[in-house]
Amino acid sequence: MTNSQANPAQAIGPTIDDHYDVVIVGARAAGAATAMLLAREGLRVLAIDKAAYGSDTLSSHALMRGAISSLGRWGLLDEVYGAGTPIISKTVFTYGIEELAIDIPPTPDVPGLAAPRRTVLDPILVDAALASGATVLHETRLVGIDTDDTGCVVGVQIEVPGGPVKAVATDLLIGADGLRSAVARQLDVPITRMGSSASAYIMRYFSDLEVDRNAYAWLYKPGIGAGVIPTNDGVCVFAAMTQDEFRSGARKNTEAAMVNVLNRLDPELAASVMRATPQGPIRSWPGVRGQFRKPFGPGWALVGDAGYFKDPFAAHGISDAFRDAELLAQAVRTGDYARYEQRRDELSAPLFDVLEKIAGYDWDLETLPGLHFQLSKAMRAEGKAFAEDLEASALQTA
Ligand SMILES: Cc1cc2nc3c(=O)[nH]c(=O)nc-3n(C[C@H](O)[C@H](O)[C@H](O)COP(=O)(O)OP(=O)(O)OC[C@H]3O[C@@H](n4cnc5c(N)ncnc54)[C@H](O)[C@@H]3O)c2cc1C
Repeated sequence: MTNSQANPAQAIGPTIDDHYDVVIVGARAAGAATAMLLAREGLRVLAIDKAAYGSDTLSSHALMRGAISSLGRWGLLDEVYGAGTPIISKTVFTYGIEELAIDIPPTPDVPGLAAPRRTVLDPILVDAALASGATVLHETRLVGIDTDDTGCVVGVQIEVPGGPVKAVATDLLIGADGLRSAVARQLDVPITRMGSSASAYIMRYFSDLEVDRNAYAWLYKPGIGAGVIPTNDGVCVFAAMTQDEFRSGARKNTEAAMVNVLNRLDPELAASVMRATPQGPIRSWPGVRGQFRKPFGPGWALVGDAGYFKDPFAAHGISDAFRDAELLAQAVRTGDYARYEQRRDELSAPLFDVLEKIAGYDWDLETLPGLHFQLSKAMRAEGKAFAEDLEASALQTA
């Protein structure tokens, strides 16, 4: 990190100004959504991402109600379904051999769930940010943060493709740069709560796997799980296991480990997966414990996984990234960042607590349905409380 008093920005090419009201590092679920919302408020926003526009990232991207209603509110849901993303109208939980199918009746704000590939979802968000007036630069990396004598962030150093490092001044730096946030690292942002459990995952897409295209399927037996998620382009299948199982061999032969887990859960599913055509590489995630970071300080804020990460078992990361983009946009409008932290933590805690048990495999087939019931109750309560927040905020600005 550099520390510069005045930090006059250099002239850095025709598309980058020397000052923005807000600079956002990371332009995916959290960053592009925040850029769009702040640009819609009339702020001058620059968002950068070191990855290429439309590139993939590791996620099973099953969207839950929260994410769908955000996309609807933002006017982006038609584009998601228009890309060929199936409407998910059912969730099927299989506990051992017991199947529990739950319908998802359409409502005006949530016609169904959806799992658009990140190569579809992230560009929709980036295009919406651009259409709202934000500048978004891909393949552009944060390399330094400038602070004044009081420690307040006043600018960033960024590296555009093929160019020298450039300085850009800003009133607010937002780190939307994921779990391993460079913004959080460079500013030495403290972790305010650390989880204690994590699950490992192995996942792959299959182009011709025959499944119900309108259902998410989740399967469980003690110590293992799996998911079958129809997307706009192939079916995403993941196998979940304890970190111990992953470390003690699964990671060395992920293909065999995936089939092994699926076979223990449902031999027919394992056989179909073995017959299906894989799309792209098999990928794995060793498991990382959930955590909350302090989400704001002088001249900076964090949003998305950079500020709050949880195990993927609840498939709620993107929903939370969208929710926190809206909460942060409210904070930028009102200046009340303490409320941003308070609401983020209050709304997140019940889901985080129950997820700790699920991701830690602290259950058997008798107790897991009860934990899922708690999870669903936490999601519903969170959705209701957040809707009230949005209504109150709309009344304030009306
Ligand atoms: C295995 C797995 C499965 C998951 N499944 C689901 C699911 O089914 N449903 C769900 O809702 N969520 C799921 N998640 C969680 C979800 O993927 C995340 O919550 C979500 O991607 C967070 O979005 P984000 O924008 O905060 O961060 P990210 O998507 O991580 O984006 C951060 C961006 O910051 C950029 N960046 C980082 N450093 C720099 C830098 N120095 N300069 C410029 N750019 C930088 C990166 O290139 C990246 O594009 C899953 C996660 C994992 C790991």
